[in-house]
Order: sequence, then structure tokens, then C-alpha cells
Amino acid sequence: MLRELLDRIRGREQLLVRAGEEMPLIVISYPRGNASYAEALQIAVCQTYRHLSDETRRRYSHVLPRLPWLVVAILRPRNACSCLGHHHPPGTEGRIARRLKADTGMRVGELDLAIEAIRQWEPLPLAALAAQPPPELRTELNEFRFHVALLSVFLHELDHLAFPEHDEREVRQRSNEFYSASLREFFSQQLGASYGI
Ligand SMILES: [Zn+2]
Ligand SMILES: [Zn+2]
Repeated sequence: MLRELLDRIRGREQLLVRAGEEMPLIVISYPRGNASYAEALQIAVCQTYRHLSDETRRRYSHVLPRLPWLVVAILRPRNACSCLGHHHPPGTEGRIARRLKADTGMRVGELDLAIEAIRQWEPLPLAALAAQPPPELRTELNEFRFHVALLSVFLHELDHLAFPEHDEREVRQRSNEFYSASLREFFSQQLGASYGI
């Protein structure tokens, strides 16, 4: 089955990610030649997520156990509708998820993420922070912010998959709070200060 998963589909490649016990298995599908997109999501779920405190991660502790064992994440530079991502309700999945579902007889989730749109997404601009990080920290901070944004949008869509009945406001509030809490952690770890994000 693994071989099946990693089969090349025209114009796209797949990466299988095991992010740890509480996370589902993730099949990342990305445009050929854009392995950096898949790596960014892999870092977000395997490293960024793990470095966060239990308190921050706890926001999703009721969501993760309700997810299918496997989730397909379709990565693109941008979505035509300009959204950062979508979850695909049962019955609307694409070819890879349909095939995995048929082969395993198990529930498979699917979502999409618009990587370049997420990279530019700044719900909490640095300019709004009380203090300016030193220049030597800027690159690291931007990388971290991108991975946190990716993780937040990914968790936001997983939340929709786990609880289709929850409304957008509630789901969005959770992912926004997760994003802010994660950035706040990074700032206090790196700079030993609270920035009132
Ligand atoms: Zn959309
Ligand atoms: Zn949403």
C-alpha cells in the first residue's frame, strides 16, 4: 500500500509523514518540483508542533482523536478563490483520497492548503508588537511564523473535518488563538520577554 501511496501521479508527488501518535498519518501531495512546500508542512507538524507547550497544543486535544487515521493534504501555491485552505467534506475528495479509502475501507480525510498565500498571511504583523526583534533574529522569526501559520491553517481544517457541525467563527477563533499563543511562546523563549501579542 505504501508503494501505492508514493506512486507518482501526473504533475504531483506524494510524501508520507508520520507526525506522531496523536496526529493522523499525513499524505502530502505537492506540485512536482516544489518539494519545499511538502518540507514546510512536515516541519510544521513534526517540529514546530512538538516544540510548543502542552498548554498551547491542548487547544486541539479534543480534535485530534476524532480524525480519520489518514489525512491527505493537497498543497498548491494559491487557491483560485484566494482562501488559505479548505477541508473537503466526505464525498468531495480527490483521486488520492478516494483510492486510499477504497483500498483500505477506512475513513480518509482531505484538505488543501495554499502555501504562498499562507506565507504572506500576517494576522499579527510584527509591527504591532511592542518591541522590535533584533535583526539577527528576523530570519528565524519569519521562518517560525510561516511554520506556525501553516500549522494553524492545517489544524483549522482538521477541526472542520473532526466537527463538521461547528461554525466558522468558533473554528477560526481557536486557530487564531493557537497562532497567537505559539508566536508568544517563541518570543518569550527567544527574547525572554512578553510582547503582549
Ligand atoms: Zn475557498
Ligand atoms: Zn474554516
